[in-house]
Amino acid sequence: MATDCRQSCLVCGLHATLRCSGCAKAGIDLFFCSKEHQSLVWRTHRQVCGPGKANPFLFPFLSSDELADMMAHLNWKNPDPVDEYLRFTLSEMYQVKLGEPPETLPFALPLFFTKKTELPTEGTQKALVNFRNLNHSRHQSQNKGDPTGFWAVTNAYEMIGYVHKICWQGGPFPSWYSELHHRLAIHAAIVILSKQAADSTIYDHYVDEAWTRITELISQRVAAESPATAAMLFHQIRMCDPYSAVSKPPP
Ligand SMILES: [Zn+2]
Ligand SMILES: [Zn+2]
Repeated sequence: MATDCRQSCLVCGLHATLRCSGCAKAGIDLFFCSKEHQSLVWRTHRQVCGPGKANPFLFPFLSSDELADMMAHLNWKNPDPVDEYLRFTLSEMYQVKLGEPPETLPFALPLFFTKKTELPTEGTQKALVNFRNLNHSRHQSQNKGDPTGFWAVTNAYEMIGYVHKICWQGGPFPSWYSELHHRLAIHAAIVILSKQAADSTIYDHYVDEAWTRITELISQRVAAESPATAAMLFHQIRMCDPYSAVSKPPP
C-alpha cells in the first residue's frame, strides 16, 4: 500500500509530523521532518506561505529588484525565442495577455504587480507568470543569472506556469492545486541551493526526494481526481530534468 504523500518531509522524504503553521492557517498541509528542513527552503516558501498566498496559491508579487529590472527592459526583444511567447517584449506581452495598450505598462507594473496593489486578478496572475518567464529568458540569453534568486529554475517556471494554465480555467480550484505549487517551489529552492553550493552533489538526495514529493502527489491525489490531468502533468514532467532544472531537448 502506498504511503500517504502528505506524511513525508518535502525536503528529505522522511516521516514528518511538523506542519507548516502558516500554510495550515490557509487550509493546506505541508509537512517537514524538522525546523532545519523547513528553513532550508524558506527562501521560496516564505513568498507563498500563509493566508492570502498559500491557498489558493498566488504567485509572489514582484520584488523591488524584479520591478526595477523589468522597468529597465520593457521593450527588450529575445533575438532567439524558443517558444511563441518568448518572441514578445514585456510591453507586447502585457497587451496580448490583458488587452491593455503597451505604453501603459510602466504605470501598471508598479500598481498591479507589486505588494502595494489591490487583490490580484486571474489576468494579472497569468501575466505575472509570463512576465517572469520572459524576464528570465532575457537573463538566460544575456548570461546574467537571476538577480532575485527566485523562480530561477526553468522547470519550476514551466511546471508552475503549466499547472496554472491547465487548472485555472474557471470553476473551483482542485484540492491538490496549491499543494502541487508549493512542492514545485520547494523543489526549486533546493535546486537553487545545489547550484550555489561548492559541491552540488550534497543536495542530490534532497533534489530527488523533493521531486518524488511532486510525482507522488500527481500519481496519488491528482490521478484520483482526474486521470487526464495527471497524464498531462506527467507528460510535462518527463520533459524536465530535476537536477539541472532545465527542459531536456526534444528527442
Ligand atoms: Zn526532512
Ligand atoms: Zn507554509
